[in-house]
Amino acid sequence: MHFQPVFDTKRPIHIAGPCSAETEEQVLAAAHGLKDQQVNLFRAGIWKPRTRPGAFEGVGVPGLKWLQRVQRETGLAVTTEVAYAQHVEQCLKHGIDVFWIGARSTVNPFSVQEIAEALRGTDVPVLVKNPVNPDYKLWVGALERLYKAGLRRVAAIHRGFSSYGDSKYRNLPRWQMAIDLMQEFPDLEVLCDISHICGRRDILAETAQKAYDLNFDGLMVEVHPTPDEAWSDASQQVTPEQYSKMIKGLVRRVVTTDDPDFLAYMENCRIEIDAIDEEIIHLIAQRMQLVKEIGVIKRDKNVTVLQPERFRALREELLRRGEKNELSKEFISLFLEAIHQESINQQEQVINASLKKRKLTKD
Ligand code: PEP
Ligand code: MN
Repeated sequence: MHFQPVFDTKRPIHIAGPCSAETEEQVLAAAHGLKDQQVNLFRAGIWKPRTRPGAFEGVGVPGLKWLQRVQRETGLAVTTEVAYAQHVEQCLKHGIDVFWIGARSTVNPFSVQEIAEALRGTDVPVLVKNPVNPDYKLWVGALERLYKAGLRRVAAIHRGFSSYGDSKYRNLPRWQMAIDLMQEFPDLEVLCDISHICGRRDILAETAQKAYDLNFDGLMVEVHPTPDEAWSDASQQVTPEQYSKMIKGLVRRVVTTDDPDFLAYMENCRIEIDAIDEEIIHLIAQRMQLVKEIGVIKRDKNVTVLQPERFRALREELLRRGEKNELSKEFISLFLEAIHQESINQQEQVINASLKKRKLTKD
């Protein structure tokens, strides 16, 4: 799939505006507060997918007229969320510039297909949020459905993934999935919706900087004239002034530069890093060799592959060493888990292979 740009302008791109359109005054106040800021597209939800019934579910079609006023009075292009063919028809009728598909729709192929069919034959740009669950194929599948309906001006928005239990984030970022998407589709624009990832305004700036540093094409940010009084997502919205201050404080770093000193330094470091990686693989292979030898003894003595006491002690020791070397607990745990899983697999292979052999010789 080869996509065409939704945003034909220099990076970074910024989408800003309230979570929901609440009243005509609120929408216009947000838009006027943003029109002279760094904003490429004004957002406001007209139909709101709420987790529990009874919450504010959006103003519906009358809100589209407010967005038209935003276009006329501020010159800003506007976007809203569509979930059904009927939303698409209303938005087309009202000249909405860009449509977005929300996380709860991307998860459902029926919805995405319905939207794609309703858009067939148009050239409306569409932004596709990731599904609420971390299913990479489902996200790509939604992009494919639009592509197959003839749409080319399609971009993606990373808004994090639902999880159960306590976390710093409302939706876990799992950055690697967005990075994978950028690598698989180099001409697809990928933006980061920091508001829905964070769920709180105090960590928006650091998350925005992280998104910049991971080379996202831009950001989506929820901005409201009086955030604490917002009818939805109050705790994550910021005022136009706070938005402006945050964006100005971000550092946009370049992917590379042709400064020869920089390039030479990078080249040298990379040679060293490659050599270290090679050594790491060699050491892990040596470790696995020992693991397999232990597998043979375990098999002969009829001892289980998993040794919980040993694993616990190993984990504690590695965590201690990791801390001494300024490696995070999270990394050490993942590292040990990966090594341990591979060791178990290798030992099982040894044990199962010899079982098969025994069976053959018996026969
Ligand atoms: C939104 O952008 O207001 C929204 C509902 O987002 P999401 O689909 O990412 O939850
Ligand atoms: Mn929201």
